[in-house]
Amino acid sequence: MAEHHKEGQRKRQAKLAGHPEWMNYPRTRPRALKAGTDFFFSGRMCKNRHYNLRSVLGSRCVACEEKAQDVSPSLAAFMHDWLFDL
Ligand SMILES: [Zn+2]
Repeated sequence: MAEHHKEGQRKRQAKLAGHPEWMNYPRTRPRALKAGTDFFFSGRMCKNRHYNLRSVLGSRCVACEEKAQDVSPSLAAFMHDWLFDL
């Protein structure tokens, strides 16, 4: 019963996020590893308040991971500006 309740909650969060297809992903990291998928959807909020898929590798949500990757392009832009200001 508890398992079923969690699945219902997860389904609701996937729907609210506008991504009902997230239900196709495993709910936990170990299950994702077992299933061989790169992502899982826990249905729980990440520490930055996103409901999103989580990466099996980083255990971080996809939105947080994208934010982390945003750092390098802006750094590149900064370096570009700095170089061309000389
Ligand atoms: Zn996040």
